[in-house]
Amino acid sequence: MSELRDLYQETILDHGRSPRHFQVLDDADRTADGYNPLCGDKIKVFLRTKDGRIEEAAFQGSGCAISMAAASLMTHAIRGASREELEETFRVFQDMVTGKIDEAAAAARLGKLVVFAGVSKFPVRIKCATLAWHTARAAMAQIEEPVSTE
Ligand code: ZN
Repeated sequence: MSELRDLYQETILDHGRSPRHFQVLDDADRTADGYNPLCGDKIKVFLRTKDGRIEEAAFQGSGCAISMAAASLMTHAIRGASREELEETFRVFQDMVTGKIDEAAAAARLGKLVVFAGVSKFPVRIKCATLAWHTARAAMAQIEEPVSTE
């Protein structure tokens, strides 16, 4: 189990150091800004949707390794999702990082995103891990005001 933990940590560090989908999407039809004042994480999420589904997702921003890794893995995971599917995946992710469900229960829905299961042991990091999700949900819902985790 500790090897698995190390692997999780390695994935988070890797994505935190070199986030994927870290770019402006010029043809995005939905964007939202998010801020986590507790840690100083700032992010902008770009979505291009078609027929109610996320065709392409990307982000820009700055923050701690957890927030950048979460945004990096999220922008990959939500491709193809409808708004309802985004909400459902977010709910499972949130339940996992807050410790309501364990990673085994979350795995079917989250796939690779279970690397964030360990966040439940560090309550101060939960908002770092969920910032990108709150921001993507706001973009999908076309909420204009910036999202704050506070
Ligand atoms: Zn953070």
